[in-house]
Amino acid sequence: MASGLTDGSRRQPSAKKVLILGGGFGGTYVLRTLVPALKPDDNVETTIVNDENFFLFLPLLHEVATGAIEPRHIAYPIRRFRFRNHFKFVQAVIEKIDLAGRKVSTSAGTLDFDYLILSLGSIPDMSGLYSARQSLFTLKSLEDARRLKNHIIDVFERASVTSDPEQQKRLLTFVVSGGGYIGVQLVSALRDFILIDLARLYNTIDRNLIKIVLVEAESKIIPRLHTNLGAYIMKQIKRMGIDVRLKSRVTHVFDDHIEINHSETMPASTVIWVPGVVTNPLVATVDAQKDSAGRIFVNEYLEVPGFPGAYAVGDCAHFIDPKSGQPIISNAHTGVRQAKVAARNILADIRRKQKRPYIYSSPFEVISVGSSKAVFSFNNLRLYGFGARLLWMGGYSLLVTKTYNQIRVVTDWLLSLVFGRDTIFLR
Ligand SMILES: Cc1cc2nc3c(=O)[nH]c(=O)nc-3n(C[C@H](O)[C@H](O)[C@H](O)COP(=O)(O)OP(=O)(O)OC[C@H]3O[C@@H](n4cnc5c(N)ncnc54)[C@H](O)[C@@H]3O)c2cc1C
Repeated sequence: MASGLTDGSRRQPSAKKVLILGGGFGGTYVLRTLVPALKPDDNVETTIVNDENFFLFLPLLHEVATGAIEPRHIAYPIRRFRFRNHFKFVQAVIEKIDLAGRKVSTSAGTLDFDYLILSLGSIPDMSGLYSARQSLFTLKSLEDARRLKNHIIDVFERASVTSDPEQQKRLLTFVVSGGGYIGVQLVSALRDFILIDLARLYNTIDRNLIKIVLVEAESKIIPRLHTNLGAYIMKQIKRMGIDVRLKSRVTHVFDDHIEINHSETMPASTVIWVPGVVTNPLVATVDAQKDSAGRIFVNEYLEVPGFPGAYAVGDCAHFIDPKSGQPIISNAHTGVRQAKVAARNILADIRRKQKRPYIYSSPFEVISVGSSKAVFSFNNLRLYGFGARLLWMGGYSLLVTKTYNQIRVVTDWLLSLVFGRDTIFLR
């Protein structure tokens, strides 16, 4: 209840300061769990810092890049949360984190803290790639999605006015490097965007020249997926005409072609780089114990050992599941669950109560394959095809933040199913 909240915008002399770094899944769910639960007696001042003034729902970014959803509809202004009068939002770039000194330097000044949440996410892993080209695409921000969509439309415009088949072939070859769940969802949506929505608008282009390639280093796509789900996805993407290269890596990206496995060359004008992530480089500079990807080791309460009051969640955190003895895979679901546990543990600490451990569970998988199919699993239940796609759409439209965006996303999907995806080049 709003009446029970402490006012984060007005400092009380002895207020405990909770500082949340990052406004993604981890950061906003800490905010959404902690702030509404605070009582005036807790005497807490909460501040969240993010470089954008919105929370971005990353799982639908490929739908934005391929014209099915409007960019703004998967972004939610952090200041718009119902309990906005009870926390401070600072739009700034975080520059340095001093865990021992309990302060954080940002482009808007220095902030100190009693409790800290590290939730700065990750960046694309570019290791092993040699690129001489500016037009290598990643998919991590709204700007990435806008740039990619414009580029795809632009190569169609350019291919439509050249009569050189070699030039057309180069322009119309699209390579997605990375066959994890992001790569698979992206390449299948890209294929639908290109072959269903774009190709019919450019009647001077021979469809047979269009080539879409998925390159994956492992011997199967989405290696961790249940065999049946993986086999279904593989069958579908091959049926879609996507050329899948397993046990392969894009090793060099040149201006007009790429190199695969240091040997084969392929003319291509579009390379989208989604083979995995490494933690935010800023987090990798923090003076705490980290893994080889730069993620911070956390204990069962998600605290950073040696730094009382500091927590790491989501893509920043390296959590070893006591059941398997293995580090868990970060995704939006684990980020959200960890955020809720970390927020409750901060509250427990403030109220001198017992903290609770984070217990890892990942009972479901849902991955879309183009605009009409998906796979879904929940424990032993497995669904394939259009039914799974409906579940995927229903689930994600509910998860998108707030009714306002939920309605806009569902409307976009319905409109793009009826009228096709958006093909405007937006400067
Ligand atoms: C294209 C894509 C598709 C995905 N699809 C799925 C999916 O289908 N299912 C799933 O479970 N997971 C998916 N994920 C993974 C999931 O989105 C991440 O695991 C999750 O976002 C991690 O949450 P986080 O809070 O750690 O990081 P993020 O959500 O990335 O949040 C980090 C925040 O920190 C901000 N930030 C970073 N550096 C700074 C700085 N120096 N100063 C200020 N602010 C900063 C960023 O702007 C961002 O708001 C996908 C990821 C991507 C990129």
